[in-house]
Amino acid sequence: MSMPFSVVAEYYEKLEAISGRIEMTELLADLLRKTPAQDIDKVCYLTLGKIAPDFSGIELGIGEKLALRAIAMASGQPEKVIKEEFNKIGDIGNLAEWAISRKSTLLEFKEELTVEEVFSRLMRIATASGPKSQDVKLRTLAGLMADASGREARYIARIVTGKLRLGIGDMTLLDAMAEIYLGSRARREEIERKYNIYPDVGRIAKALAEKGEEGLKEIDITLGVPIRAMLAQRVKSLEEVFERMGDTFLAEYKYDGERMQVHIWPDGRVRIYSRRLEDITHPYPDIIAGVKEAFKGKEAILDGECVAVNVDTGEILPFQQLMHRRRKYGVEEILEKIPTMLFVFDILYLDGKSLIDLPLKERHSILESVIEENEKVQLAKGKVMKRDPKSLEEYLNEAVSNGTEGLMIKDLNSPYEAGARGWTWIKLKRSYISKMVEPVDLVAVGAFWGRGKRAGTYGALLLAAYNHEKDRFETVCKMGTGFTDEELARLPELFKDYVIDHKHPRVMSEIEADVWFVPAKVLEVIGDEITLSPIHTCAKGVIEEGSGLAIRFPRFTGKWRDEKSPQDATTVKEILEMYKEQLAEIKEK
Ligand code: AMP
Repeated sequence: MSMPFSVVAEYYEKLEAISGRIEMTELLADLLRKTPAQDIDKVCYLTLGKIAPDFSGIELGIGEKLALRAIAMASGQPEKVIKEEFNKIGDIGNLAEWAISRKSTLLEFKEELTVEEVFSRLMRIATASGPKSQDVKLRTLAGLMADASGREARYIARIVTGKLRLGIGDMTLLDAMAEIYLGSRARREEIERKYNIYPDVGRIAKALAEKGEEGLKEIDITLGVPIRAMLAQRVKSLEEVFERMGDTFLAEYKYDGERMQVHIWPDGRVRIYSRRLEDITHPYPDIIAGVKEAFKGKEAILDGECVAVNVDTGEILPFQQLMHRRRKYGVEEILEKIPTMLFVFDILYLDGKSLIDLPLKERHSILESVIEENEKVQLAKGKVMKRDPKSLEEYLNEAVSNGTEGLMIKDLNSPYEAGARGWTWIKLKRSYISKMVEPVDLVAVGAFWGRGKRAGTYGALLLAAYNHEKDRFETVCKMGTGFTDEELARLPELFKDYVIDHKHPRVMSEIEADVWFVPAKVLEVIGDEITLSPIHTCAKGVIEEGSGLAIRFPRFTGKWRDEKSPQDATTVKEILEMYKEQLAEIKEK
């Protein structure tokens, strides 16, 4: 038998009056103790102001307007009166209680609402869809309120509008469960370990209520239930990395995009979850197609980072561009405008087996053996490194010059610590981020053929600054952004008189361009910042042995500086000055 909802409402009233966490946990434990096993998951969700875990995507989300109409309908009062009263009272729960309590109940025979009844009607409200859905929601909610007492209506109104706010979180619930089913709050960690791989408090409470401690064994990694993401600690210096890590470790590019946990069913179904465990499958049909191909026939859970890319040039684009994907355009349009790629860095589950307890090196070799990389889905770039500050710094610079935020340093022997921010993953970001304010004028010294939409024209140009002392051109960036479609199509024509079949002798480049130019044409370019780079030759070795300077995220401003000769371009010395100024600014901050 389901428990009367009035018991729940009574506890919520008591919980509202309490401010100490211990007292709150005890009261909550009391409520859960009273709750029969068949209701326990429902009471857990309701207490959090929900009816399902976040990853299910089932949300109540009733607007205030609709709730006010439902309260008017349920109480038999004109909407106008309800609205006026709401302006006075201010809280939708208190308003519902006021309205429902004033209703004449003389002629009514009322059955007591059970938790089951309240829950199933809330579920109907949340899942109503189609053209009549607003009407279904309104009527169901009004009916539910009409059957409720004043106090019950108070909490129902708050739950449906997302305003329950008892101040109880998942961890408070786990504390209460530890106390009830494991005998002590001190044992919360044992439940938390399960919660980290199956973050559904309702399901866990049910297993415990039905089978006690034994029930926990049933909870395991499951496709369709996101695992809590493993997080990283930060350090301020390379030395600190060595203090924390063993002699060898994995250094991986830290892509600046959106975390994605990808669940793949053997029949090809795919779901994607965000770092906050929300289902974000919908806007990423292109990633899904790539994942299906890369993990054909496999049942797997992957961890990775999705970034926006320029498919023609392979450049990784700034994070904001990926976010536009969500806000600005419809999915179709986005697929074309801002293509994305997924860099996979971990595998947590494969063909029925959890892999999270295996050391990273084993998980990684499993990942490498099952993935079939394609244009959309690739392994995160990384390498096993030893304690050598110089090579680590070089690799950090390489990662940054390739459009990433820096490196993730990972302990090769560590398990996947779901939900934890430990020292087995360390993020090593560039120590400063500064904006380049001034545009620079650069000389085109080479080009790369485009792919996809840009087939037949150039996808990117290789640009250089002028070294006045040595009278030569030193590369600072590859640029494929900022051109209009027409401009792009015109590029080969525009440069045709400057094409040569070898690198020009005055050009210093360690990058092999597809097409080389006589240094002649000057363009105006704006970037995000100037960074150290192992691949560009601008001021090579001046700041640091083996490193040059590069412009990060370069974009064409649209200005061809035809009035300038290549010798009038921004000089290497000026770029060096800009880099130093940038450093000084950061120190000041
Ligand atoms: P932060 O958000 O600064 O705490 O950095 C951690 C985040 O970096 C993760 O949540 C991922 O979204 C992201 N990330 C990018 N590349 C990697 C990588 N190779 N390994 C792990 N996380 C990565």
